[in-house]
Amino acid sequence: MSAPAEPYNQIPDRTRCPTCGASRRGEALCHRCKSDLTLLIRLEHCVDQLRLRARRCYARGWYRRAAAVADRVVSLESRPEDLQLLACARLMWGDFVGAADGYCQTRRQTSRIHGGIHDFRLQSSIPSGCDSH
Ligand SMILES: [Zn+2]
Repeated sequence: MSAPAEPYNQIPDRTRCPTCGASRRGEALCHRCKSDLTLLIRLEHCVDQLRLRARRCYARGWYRRAAAVADRVVSLESRPEDLQLLACARLMWGDFVGAADGYCQTRRQTSRIHGGIHDFRLQSSIPSGCDSH
């Protein structure tokens, strides 16, 4: 039995055109396929701003707000450090089940990045999809 698909499975490559895979040169149009990347660039900028906001909230001790913003970041573009921030923020404001779930997601994503898939959740007692929201 395989794990259900999650939005945390892939890390987008910001250096490549999502249409043809050509390297991006920071322009709104892909130099190879002429895809308009304006909306993608705008979305990436929004994600960067959200990521910064989540980190600032965490640094100020606003853990619940940090978790909410980090959750939004992860839904748009999930990187290991985003999942780690989400898990830590959830832990700090007392969402222990959510923190454990975030930790498991971090482990899975990190395992994927480093090659072998290791589904930590299957070995733990944390039920799948157990969110405290
Ligand atoms: Zn292209």
